[in-house]
Amino acid sequence: MLKKIQKKLTKKISKDIICSEENGAIKLEGEVNTWNKVYLSGKIAANSSYRGVINKLKVKNLNLPSISKPLLKDTKLQNKKVDVLIIGGGIIGCSIARELSKWKIKTLLVDKEYDLAVHTSSRNDGMIHPGIAPRPGSKKAIYNSRGNKMYTKLAKELDIEFNRTGSLILYDKWYLKFALPLLKIRAHENKVRMKFLNKKELKKREKYISAEIEGGVIFPDAGIVSPYKTTIAFGESAAINDVEFSLDTIVTNIITENNEIKYVETNRGKLYPKIVINAAGVFSDEIAEMAGDRFFTIHPRKGEIALLDKKKGHMLYSILSKPSLNFKSTTKGGGLVKTVEGNILAGPTAIEQPFKEDYTTTPEGLNAIINKHLKNIKGIRKTDIITYFSGIRASTYKEDFIIEKSQKINNLVHAAGIQSPGFASAPAIAEDISKITIDILKEKTRVVKKENWIPKRKKILTLKDMTFEERNKLIHKNPNYGEIICRCEEISKGEIIDAIHSPIPATTVDGIKKRVRAGMGRCQGGFCAPLVIKILNEELSKDILEITKKGKDSYMVVEETKRDDKNV
Ligand SMILES: Cc1cc2nc3c(=O)[nH]c(=O)nc-3n(C[C@H](O)[C@H](O)[C@H](O)COP(=O)(O)OP(=O)(O)OC[C@H]3O[C@@H](n4cnc5c(N)ncnc54)[C@H](O)[C@@H]3O)c2cc1C
Repeated sequence: MLKKIQKKLTKKISKDIICSEENGAIKLEGEVNTWNKVYLSGKIAANSSYRGVINKLKVKNLNLPSISKPLLKDTKLQNKKVDVLIIGGGIIGCSIARELSKWKIKTLLVDKEYDLAVHTSSRNDGMIHPGIAPRPGSKKAIYNSRGNKMYTKLAKELDIEFNRTGSLILYDKWYLKFALPLLKIRAHENKVRMKFLNKKELKKREKYISAEIEGGVIFPDAGIVSPYKTTIAFGESAAINDVEFSLDTIVTNIITENNEIKYVETNRGKLYPKIVINAAGVFSDEIAEMAGDRFFTIHPRKGEIALLDKKKGHMLYSILSKPSLNFKSTTKGGGLVKTVEGNILAGPTAIEQPFKEDYTTTPEGLNAIINKHLKNIKGIRKTDIITYFSGIRASTYKEDFIIEKSQKINNLVHAAGIQSPGFASAPAIAEDISKITIDILKEKTRVVKKENWIPKRKKILTLKDMTFEERNKLIHKNPNYGEIICRCEEISKGEIIDAIHSPIPATTVDGIKKRVRAGMGRCQGGFCAPLVIKILNEELSKDILEITKKGKDSYMVVEETKRDDKNV
């Protein structure tokens, strides 16, 4: 097999690529002249019976930046002993933390960033996919289907908004309806409910749909959540149940002995966990490498998304898409999604790139979104776009999730390569990872379930959702709720203070934005940012010059201009 792949790579890509076998995976080494060749080589190698691809190919004259690190260095965690260490505070790490919080064990979650949900888990569509897209039998298909069903109960327990709006696949050429039976087969294989809708039925459901749309299919189980609020909710629920969180904490090395992790090095000291869970998103391959268990590679796939003004929110009810009918495609093609807050999201695109933390957006990406998706709703224009952003999918060359106990390191568990539909699948992934972890732990020590586990977590109250009487009562009790700070989103000072004192406290301007939406409206924080900085300064007793937008050195105030008056 190795020889066959080597021959194919020599013929199709370059004679300078060397193939070998390592840890049950196929390893590629050498130098090529473009990133596309690195990617294509990985895809060719993935087409084999090896369990993964370790793609170490380099691009001539391309130096990849190293992982962004916290500025902080201290000994807060020095010699700390825990039962379980989770690396990564995205939806995967946080949902695992909540599952593990049901047990009487010491769990610590570390993330290198200033907050939870800083990377992919806040940079996505928040769609709870129905499970139609994944290849039948794949881990993606299994976990998506299970995860989707779990969200109804979870939304109640975690007090998060979850709208099961259903998703529509549309077609605008009459002959495309002949491809629809293929969808029916896929739906049957993946156990997904679906129903065909003709033009009239569609129009009844989606009043503003383009006249060019001929018909569609509805998947009623699809839904939508706020990705960052959901991730934080999982994290808070775990924190309420005694899971410890250490932010600004990067894992820099993992020391093993006799196929066991002995300790883990961080910028805040050496940690001694009994078990390590790798939930490090796009860096999960590098964590695996640190532990000497590399058998896969993450090839970052960027997705750009445009956010539309809320005033157009009423024009959409379900999730709309016009995907490619190519079932071999690695993306679902994007679409239009109505967020739980009422904005419309358009996108994402899918672009292979070498960089794991480059979130820049491009005119080409934006134009692709405008041309492909906006035209599906009559009356939506590109001037309705208020901002755009991007996220990076943690794709492996096998294009499936890695959810398993390490085959080599006895106390390592991987929840890696979790690209889309990772959000939809997270609760089911968390259940299985927790089970694997507890089983390993039971071999080392006695483990029992908590009797006093608290399933419910309460969200920060939202003034906007209250009646006039309720607001009045609240403001009389606490006048901070009567002071509106973000006018676009109608967020009061009281809500911002609640976010600062929540179970996983917001300590930055973006942290506030993710929890209560201050700065997420049409003006994108133009008016409220200085006021939010001031509240952070007062509540955290932190120098105003030290308040950041998103941790590290993202300072927002350079110096105080009115030096005699400290209330700047
Ligand atoms: C554009 C886009 C749209 C998407 N849309 C959807 C959708 O609609 N529905 C859906 O189901 N899925 C969607 N997805 C996929 C989904 O967002 C991901 O599967 C999910 O967020 C992955 O979560 P995660 O926790 O694995 O990764 P992340 O959220 O990236 O978390 C990993 C964390 O690990 C931390 N970390 C990394 N290395 C270290 C280290 N050395 N030390 C300490 N911490 C470390 C990082 O700081 C990061 O916070 C989308 C993805 C993209 C990019």
